[in-house]
Amino acid sequence: MTSPAPQDFDALVVGAGIGGLQTALDLAEQGYKVAVVDRDPSIGGKMIRLSKVFPTLDCSSCITTPKMAAAAHHRNITIHTYCEPKSVAKVNGRFEATITQKPRYVIAEKCTGCRLCEYACPTYVPDEEQGGFGARKVIRVPFSNAIPQLAVLDAENCWICGKPAGKCMEACPTDAIDYFQKPQDFTIRARAVVLSTGYELIPDYSAKAFGPMSGHPNLITSLQMERLLAPHGPYMRVLRPGDGKEPSSIAFIQCAGSRDHTLGVPYCSRVCCMYSIKQAMLLSGALPLADITIYYIDIRAFGKNYEQFYQNAQAMGIEFVKAKPSVVSATPEGSLVMKYENQETGESVTREHDMVVQALALVPAWNPAGVIDAGVADDGFLKATSPKLQPTLTTQEGVFMAGVSAGPKDIVDAIVEAGAAAMEVSNYLTAQHAAAAE
Ligand SMILES: Cc1cc2nc3c(=O)[nH]c(=O)nc-3n(C[C@H](O)[C@H](O)[C@H](O)COP(=O)(O)OP(=O)(O)OC[C@H]3O[C@@H](n4cnc5c(N)ncnc54)[C@H](O)[C@@H]3O)c2cc1C
Repeated sequence: MTSPAPQDFDALVVGAGIGGLQTALDLAEQGYKVAVVDRDPSIGGKMIRLSKVFPTLDCSSCITTPKMAAAAHHRNITIHTYCEPKSVAKVNGRFEATITQKPRYVIAEKCTGCRLCEYACPTYVPDEEQGGFGARKVIRVPFSNAIPQLAVLDAENCWICGKPAGKCMEACPTDAIDYFQKPQDFTIRARAVVLSTGYELIPDYSAKAFGPMSGHPNLITSLQMERLLAPHGPYMRVLRPGDGKEPSSIAFIQCAGSRDHTLGVPYCSRVCCMYSIKQAMLLSGALPLADITIYYIDIRAFGKNYEQFYQNAQAMGIEFVKAKPSVVSATPEGSLVMKYENQETGESVTREHDMVVQALALVPAWNPAGVIDAGVADDGFLKATSPKLQPTLTTQEGVFMAGVSAGPKDIVDAIVEAGAAAMEVSNYLTAQHAAAAE
C-alpha cells in the first residue's frame, strides 16, 4: 500500500478538546491552515461528556457542539480523528509529523453515519461513553452528536456474527465495512505545533485508598457522576449503578489523589471543589429529598463568581464536612460505610451513604517523550520555558501548549490559554516569514 502524500499546514494541533479546538479556531480565523488530530473517534474531549458546567450551569453539550461544528466546517481546518502522532521531528525549521490512523474497520469515505450497522449488530458491551454504565453495540457511532458521524468497530469484542460476513456488513448500504483494515501512517508537515492533549483521572487512587472496597459499584468517579447527571445519561435519571435504586444519601470525597505526595500528585487539581459543588447542586435538583454531603480539606473557589456559587450550594442545604473519610465496608443493601475524624469538632464518626463519588485528581493524558522533543515538568504536565510571561511556550521552539496538558484548569482558563497559544503561534509564524523574506 502506498503512503498518502504529505499534507502541508501552518500549524498542527494535537488534541481536539476545548483547548485544541479553540486554538485551531483562533488560528484559522486569522487565515492560517490548521490540521487537528485526536486519538478519540470524535472531537470534543472531556467537555462534550460533561453534564452542565460551573458556574453558569449551561448544558455542556449545548455549548460544546457548536464549537465542534465550527471547527469541523471551517475551511482552514482539517480534522483527523482516531489518530495519534507517532513521531514529530523538526526538519529544516519545519515539523514533520508521522500520524497513525487507527483502523475503524469502516471506510470513512463511504460511511454515511446512517447507523444501520449499529442497529444490526447483535452484541452489547459496557458503554465507556456513559462511564461504563449502560450498553453500546460493538459497531457504533460513538454518541449522538459525535463529530465526525462515522461508525467505528471495536475489534476486541467483535466475533463476526454471521457467515461469511457479520450482520453489520450485510446491513451497510454503502459497503463501508472492512474487517481487514490496518493502521496506516501519513505525514503532516507544519511550521508550528500546539499540544493540547488534556487529562485523565488518576487511575489507581481507589485501589490504593480503599483496597477491597475500590471495585464497589456504588463507589464511582466524578466523570461517572457527570454521565449520571447528563440529559442523555445511561439511565436518563440518577440511579445507583449497583441496584438501580434512587439514592437518598450521596457523599463526595474531595482531594481523592490530589495534594498527595505519596501518589506523585503534590498539586491541587483546581476544578474538583467546583465541579463537586456543581454536581451536588444538580443532584439536589434531581433528588430533592436526598442528603448530599461534601467531605473536603479546603474549599478552593478562586474564579469569577465561584465563591457565590459555593455560598448558593450552602444555602441550598448541601452539607460541607471538613474531613478526609475512608470507605471501610459496605452494607448488605449496598450502602457504603465511611469513617472519618471531623477536623472542626475532633469527633470520630462512622456514617453510611447510598453512593460515594470520588473527586479524583487530574493527571496528564499523554507524555510526549519519544514522540516530540517537548519537556515535561516534575508534575508530569508540559513544561513552560517562561511560565510567567509566555506560559504557552514549551521547551522546544515552535511547539506550544494549551489547556490541561499545561496543568489542571477549568474551561474558562483553557479557552483563555488556547487564545494565548494561538497568538504566540501567529507571532512565531510571522517572525519566521519575515526572516525567510530577508
Ligand atoms: C468531573 C469533572 C467535571 C468538570 N466540570 C467542569 C465544569 O463544570 N466547568 C469547568 O469549567 N470545567 C470543568 N471540568 C474541567 C474541564 O473538563 C477541563 O477544563 C476541560 O475539559 C479541558 O479541556 P482540554 O481540551 O484541555 O482537555 P481534554 O478535554 O482532556 O481534551 C484533550 C483531547 O486530547 C486528546 N488526546 C490526548 N492525548 C492525545 C494524543 N496523544 N494524540 C491525539 N489526541 C490526544 C484527547 O482524546 C482529548 O480529546 C471538569 C472536570 C472533571 C474531571
